[in-house]
This record gives sequence, C-alpha cells and structure tokens, in this order.
Amino acid sequence: MTQAKTLQITLLGATGSIGSSTLDVVARHPERYQIHALTANTSVDEMLLLCEQWEPRYVVMNDASSAAELSSILSVKNRQTEVLSGESGLLQVVEDKEVDCVVAAIVGAAGLVPTLAAAKAGKRVLLANKEALVMSGRLFMDAARENNAILMPVDSEHNAIFQCMPDSLTEHHSSVKMTNQQASAGIERIWLTASGGPFRTWSADRLHDVTPEQAVNHPNWDMGRKISVDSATLMNKGLELIEAYWLFDMDIANIDVVIHPQSVIHSMVTYSDGSVLAQLGNPDMRTPIAHALAWPERIASGVEPLNIFDVAKLDFEQPDLGRFPCLRLCYEAIKKGGSATIVLNAANEIAVAAFLDEKIGFNDIAVLIEQTLNKANITEDVSSLENILDADTMARTITNECISAMQ
Ligand code: NAD
Ligand code: MG
Repeated sequence: MTQAKTLQITLLGATGSIGSSTLDVVARHPERYQIHALTANTSVDEMLLLCEQWEPRYVVMNDASSAAELSSILSVKNRQTEVLSGESGLLQVVEDKEVDCVVAAIVGAAGLVPTLAAAKAGKRVLLANKEALVMSGRLFMDAARENNAILMPVDSEHNAIFQCMPDSLTEHHSSVKMTNQQASAGIERIWLTASGGPFRTWSADRLHDVTPEQAVNHPNWDMGRKISVDSATLMNKGLELIEAYWLFDMDIANIDVVIHPQSVIHSMVTYSDGSVLAQLGNPDMRTPIAHALAWPERIASGVEPLNIFDVAKLDFEQPDLGRFPCLRLCYEAIKKGGSATIVLNAANEIAVAAFLDEKIGFNDIAVLIEQTLNKANITEDVSSLENILDADTMARTITNECISAMQ
C-alpha cells in the first residue's frame, strides 16, 4: 500500500484546550501529520515551549509585542521558526498553499476571520470554533461549499451526529451541508446531548451566588474558561443548536436538546424506520479530533475505550429553560434570524468576560444578553463579513453600556 501524503496542518489556537488535545493526537501519527504553523493570543512562554517541541515553519501571535518578544528569544536560540502577528499573519498561515488542513480552535469571535478564510481557501477545516459559524452561518457554509472545503465538525455533539449520518450523505457532502437531503435519507430528528453543567440540579436562587471558580469547574469535560462558563449557563448548548442548524441544514423544530449527565452519548440521530443511532465514548475531545483529522479513515487517539459496565446507567432529562434562560434566548435568536445570533454571541462574550472578572453575577449573563437583543437593531443583511463584524461591534458596545448601568 502506498503511504498517503503527510498532511500539513495550521493549528489556530494552539495553546488552548482543543489546541493541546490536537497536538496530542498529531504526536501519535508523525507519518501522517506535520505542523506547519501554530497560533496563539499573547502567551509567549507557552508558545516558546511549543516551538521547541514542534519546530513549526511559522507561528502567529495576536499582538506585535508578543511576536517581537518571541522572535528575539527564538533567534537567540537559533531556531528557524518565523514569527508573524495579527490578522495578516493568521491569513498568511491559513491561505498558505502548502497547508492542507486548518484546525480552527481560537475561542470566540476572534476566530471568525481566519476560519472563514480557511473555508474560502478550500482547506480541510476542522471546526471547533463554533462562534465563527454562529456569527457567519450561511456565508461560511456557502464559502465552504463553493470552494470545495472539507468541513469536519470537531464539537463532540456535531462530530457524533456526523458519525451517525449515512455514508450516502457524508461521502458526497463532507462539507456537511446536506441541503434537503435528510428526508430522502430517512433522517427525522437530531438530538444534541448536554451534560447540564455543574449547576444542573441547583435552584434559581442558588445560581445567583455562583462564583467564576465554581462555573469553570465542569463535571465531565476539561475545557477553556469561556466555554466552561457557557456550559454552566447552557449557552454552549444554545450555540451548538445554531451550529447544528447550519452544519446539517436541519429545521430547528427537528433538533432537540436532551440533558444527559453522564456525557457518554455524544449525540443521536433518529431515522424514519424508528432507529436511533448514537455515538458513545469517554468524554475526551481527542476522539472527535482524531475522527475529523483522519476521516474517512480511523486512527488511534489515545482515548481509553469506553467501559460500558463502569457507565452502567444512562439518564436523560428535559432542559429547564426557566433556570437556564440562555438556551431560551438562543432558540429565540435563531427564529428571529438576521443579525440576532451575532448580537447574542457578542453579548455573551462580553457578559462572560465580565462575570469572570467578577463585575457581574452569574444570572446577569442572561439578563445582559436579553437586554442587548432588545436594544440592538437586528438587521436582515448578514451576507457580508463587513456587516457581520459591524453587528458584532455594535452589540459589544450595547452590552458594555448595560454593564455600566448595572454597577
Ligand atoms: P481556550 O481558551 O483553552 O483556548 C483558546 C485559544 O485561542 C488559545 O490558544 C488562545 O491563545 C487563542 N486566542 C484567544 N483569544 C485570541 C485572540 N483574540 N486572537 C488570537 N488567538 C486567540 O479555548 P478552548 O476550550 O480550546 O476552545 C476553543 C474553541 O473550541 C472555542 O470556540 C470552543 O467553543 C470550542 N470547543 C472547545 C471544546 C473543549 O473541549 N475545550 C469543545 C468543543 C468546542
Ligand atoms: Mg460541544
């Protein structure tokens, strides 16, 4: 058998939780994958360690001063890695002709421009950065399809759904846009599972006093701080609902959220003959990352096999939209359409950062998102990147004003 070409990877958000899980999988398969470029926000020390281990051709730091600091340390050590910075640096390492695969693992709206550029450049795009798709939905999916990008969901739920879809769909639609094909393939519903987060059983009163440390302490998954807070408010599930809506082109009425505290079933698909297909596994992001890297093949990920006897029991509950209003706000935003999901996402990012800075309480996150959605001018035209970024900027200003008014 001939050995397949080594895939050249640009990893956006290399110092984060998804970034380090990706590097863990890649390290197990040096013959299949090579790191071409790594990017990070400002953490020079962490990037220096990664440069020494991976010797990438390029690294990109978000700001010029971190880039200059890293560059001077690397030149003293006589390392060949070239250090770039800012958006132009990100675009260069995404669009580079030598790059086959872009792992989109920057957190938040900051990931939109390079992730969209990866789709436009027709790369194999491993999508972890759900906020990019929540903001740019149709624009992003059209860019992926028109440029023959291979769009692979890394979010565990969406990756699970992809795995439960029939080959007849995924084979020809690796970019996951399955326009109007589900009915003919017998797909009736998709089920997004949610752990329920650390406060699943807490009363609304008790939620009032939640601290940032409690909120980032997820029972099943080890993740970055922003997505951990999103999981605690159920905003993460709402963002995933919007993500599934775009990825699988499903009517929102045919996507259900189910609370499943064990996080063993990662999501499910219901077929017209009564079958429900589920993907199970230990909660470890290396499984969906390895799947998305190697599809249609399978490779080792380092994840322990699931011991079904240890699991023993699988529970399912309805989500409580009263105690977790962020999920309700996501349903409402997607029904409203236009820029509503962009406004929702921006307000959430500002509110979560304020909560982590102890400027507002846990329950204020949903209050601020709702206030922002009510005050913002929701526009219909979100067909250009410029309009999307304008809506995002405007929403951030409104949320910041609402925070000031709360103090
Ligand atoms: P994280 O906070 O651990 O890492 C974020 C990465 O993005 C870091 O490398 C950081 O340096 C970089 N970054 C942050 N701000 C930046 C900026 N302004 N410009 C450039 N780079 C910036 O986050 P994470 O948990 O790895 O999540 C990354 C993305 O993956 C998020 O969109 C999240 O929703 C999604 N995701 C994460 C998980 C998980 O298990 N962690 C699961 C599913 C989806
Ligand atoms: Mg998820």
